[in-house]
Amino acid sequence: RKIKVPENIEEIAREVGQIAKEMGLRAYIVGGVVRDILLGKEVWDVDFVVEGNAIELAKELARRHGVNVHPFPEFGTAHLKIGKLKLEFATARRETYPRPGAYPKVEPASLKEDLIRRDFTINAMAISVNLEDYGTLIDYFGGLRDLKDKVIRVLHPVSFIEDPVRILRALRFAGRLNFKLSRSTEKLLKQAVNLGLLKEAPRGRLINEIKLALREDRFLEILELYRKYRVLEEIIEGFQWNEKVLQKLYALRKVVDWHALEFSEERIDYGWLYLLILISNLDYERGKHFLEEMSAPSWVRETYKFMKFKLGSLKEELKKAKENYEVYRLLKPLHTSVLLLLMLEEELKEKIKLYLEKLRKVKLPKEKIEELKKQGLKGKELGERIEELKREIMNKIKLAAALEHHHHHH
Ligand code: ATP
Repeated sequence: RKIKVPENIEEIAREVGQIAKEMGLRAYIVGGVVRDILLGKEVWDVDFVVEGNAIELAKELARRHGVNVHPFPEFGTAHLKIGKLKLEFATARRETYPRPGAYPKVEPASLKEDLIRRDFTINAMAISVNLEDYGTLIDYFGGLRDLKDKVIRVLHPVSFIEDPVRILRALRFAGRLNFKLSRSTEKLLKQAVNLGLLKEAPRGRLINEIKLALREDRFLEILELYRKYRVLEEIIEGFQWNEKVLQKLYALRKVVDWHALEFSEERIDYGWLYLLILISNLDYERGKHFLEEMSAPSWVRETYKFMKFKLGSLKEELKKAKENYEVYRLLKPLHTSVLLLLMLEEELKEKIKLYLEKLRKVKLPKEKIEELKKQGLKGKELGERIEELKREIMNKIKLAAALEHHHHHH
C-alpha cells in the first residue's frame, strides 16, 4: 500500500532514500509521524529509522545542505534542521529487558525489531523512503486498521509492565484522538494500575508525560480518562476525585473557551489552570511540592498560593462590591489566571467580564489630562484626580449598558 508523502517533506524523503541507496542502507519514516501523516496532520518533525549507521547518513544529508548535525553516538541517533524541518535519524535497534522495569539493553537490529519495541500499533508503522518501494506503508501490527477503527492497542501483553509510562501515553492518545482502548489493552492497563506500577515508574518520566498532556487541546478528555482508570491517585499523594472538582473543570473549560476566543492575544497556557483545580484540595505543601516537580512556571506557583490563601476573601469582597470602580480596584492587580478562576463563580462572572471588556480599558483623553495640568495639578494630586475621573466614567458604564438593554425591550 502506497502513501502520499506530504509535499513539505517529499524532497527530503527522496533525498534520504537516494543517500541510503548510495551508502547501501535502508531508511524509513517511523512512529508518530506516520500516524499523523495518515491522519492528514501537518508534520514538521520527522523521525527516520535506518537499518545501518544512521549517524553517517545524517552527516551526509547535512553536508549536502550545508547545515549542522548533532550526533549522539551513545544512542546511535543524530538530529538536524533543514529549513523548517526537524529531522531525527536513529539506527534501528532492539531493546531487551533483563528483567521487568530494568533499563533496556540496546542492540542494532532490523526495522521490524525497532517497531515492535514501540508503544501502540498506531505508533508502530513506517513508510519506506527507499527508491525501490518509496512511499510504501509498512504495517506489521495492524496500525492502519486500528487508526481507522479509532483504537489504541499495545503490541504485546507485557507492554505496560515493561514501561508503565505507557499507561499515561495510552490515555493521552485516546483523549487527544478520541480513540478507545482495545478490550485487551484496557484490561492490561487496569491490571498494570492495580499492580501499582505507576508508583514504581521513573518519576521524571511520569511528570513529563503529565506536562505533555496538559498542553493538549483535549486535556479535559484526558483527565476524564485519568479519572476512569484512577491513575492520578497513584501519582499524586493524597489526591482524590470528587464531583465538585469535576464540575469546576467543566466550568473552567467554558470560561477558557470564551477567553481564548474573545481575547486571543491574551491567551495563557490554560492547561495549568486545570491542574490548579485538580490540586486545589491537596494540602498546601503537597500541592506546592507537586508544582515544583512539574517545574511549573512562576505565575502558576503564585496563582496556586493566591488560590489557597487569598481567593476566598477576595471573592467575598467582590460579591459585596457595588461600584464598578471598586471592582476595577480589586481586579487590577490580578493575573489573568486568577480572573479566570474567579469566573468559575457564577455570581462573579458578570463582574469579571465587565472588568475585562470595559473597565480595564477606561482611559482619560489626553486633552483632559493636559487640562488638569494647566489647572496646576501635578504628582500625587494629579494622579488622584485622574483616578477620580476614571471612577466617574466607570461608574457610568453599567448604567449605559442597562439603559441600552431597557431601550431594546421597548
Ligand atoms: P506526539 O504527537 O505527542 O509527539 P509521538 O508519537 O510523536 O507523539 P514521541 O514521544 O515523540 O511521540 O515518540 C515518538 C515515537 O517513539 C512514538 O510514536 C512511539 O513509536 C515511540 N515511543 C515513544 N515513547 C515510547 C514508549 N514509552 N514506549 C514505546 N515506544 C515509545
